[in-house]
Amino acid sequence: MSRNIIIAGAGYAGIETALYLQKKKKKDDDIRITIIDKNSYHTLLTELHEVAGNRIAEDGVTVPLRDIFHYTDVHIIKDEIVGFDFKNNTVSSEDRQYKYDYLVLAFGSEPNYYGIPGMKENCFPLWSYKDAIAVREQIYDCFIRAAQEEDKDRRSALLTFVVGGGGFTGVEMIGELGMWVRKLCTQFHIDRNEVQLYLIEALPKILNILKDKNIDASMRYLTDKLKVNVLLESAITKLEPDRVELKDG
Ligand SMILES: Cc1cc2nc3c(=O)[nH]c(=O)nc-3n(C[C@H](O)[C@H](O)[C@H](O)COP(=O)(O)OP(=O)(O)OC[C@H]3O[C@@H](n4cnc5c(N)ncnc54)[C@H](O)[C@@H]3O)c2cc1C
Repeated sequence: MSRNIIIAGAGYAGIETALYLQKKKKKDDDIRITIIDKNSYHTLLTELHEVAGNRIAEDGVTVPLRDIFHYTDVHIIKDEIVGFDFKNNTVSSEDRQYKYDYLVLAFGSEPNYYGIPGMKENCFPLWSYKDAIAVREQIYDCFIRAAQEEDKDRRSALLTFVVGGGGFTGVEMIGELGMWVRKLCTQFHIDRNEVQLYLIEALPKILNILKDKNIDASMRYLTDKLKVNVLLESAITKLEPDRVELKDG
């Protein structure tokens, strides 16, 4: 009996599943494994901050699905799934339908804005390849505009960067920015003291799953070496296009 397995999503979970099933499949098994993703590449989400902070080029965080499945007979489809019909074992995109015997759903997750007013509208999430490029371009654009801005307050606003959240991604992002800013200042002839970097965390410590000695070392590196202002116990309560409001006002 032939069996048709569809894996929807070629992130970490989808790829691992496809490779595992491929390995388990015996030569005469009549099994077809298909992986469907809206992109033709896999994104290394865990490395996005390196693109956002301009340490590596964007092609460093994508791997073509063709390369990953080169030596397998996993069938790759680039399409965006928009509908599911579990009764009839079908998933569909805008213009195609795919029948399956077994479906593996591996669409990942979405950023959580915690219901904070203005957050979704005014922040730059770091959740996809495109997000990372948008963050990088925004930072670069701020420096270009600051270099030609004569008004002191407007220049200062352009040179103030806030990263919300002191978990791994936030710390990695502000760390990248701290290093990149040195180069940007040289490139645009801007005094480093004009640039303000903030890391804002609601809890009393950053990286709170780490041991205290590692947290202390990270804090020292951020504040002393990279000149980051780390604000603890400072929940963000509102975001406007030009300001971040904290719980203490
Ligand atoms: C910036 C950042 C840093 C991180 N750092 C770490 C880390 O250091 N260590 C760690 O363990 N975890 C880290 N994580 C978390 C980790 O990336 C996720 O846990 C992991 O990506 C989840 O894998 P997944 O396969 O479930 O989803 P994803 O990797 O998100 O994959 C989902 C896939 O589904 C596709 N897709 C979604 N919707 C559709 C649709 N409608 N149609 C077709 N395709 C679709 C997407 O294109 C994507 O390829 C980080 C996450 C981010 C965002």
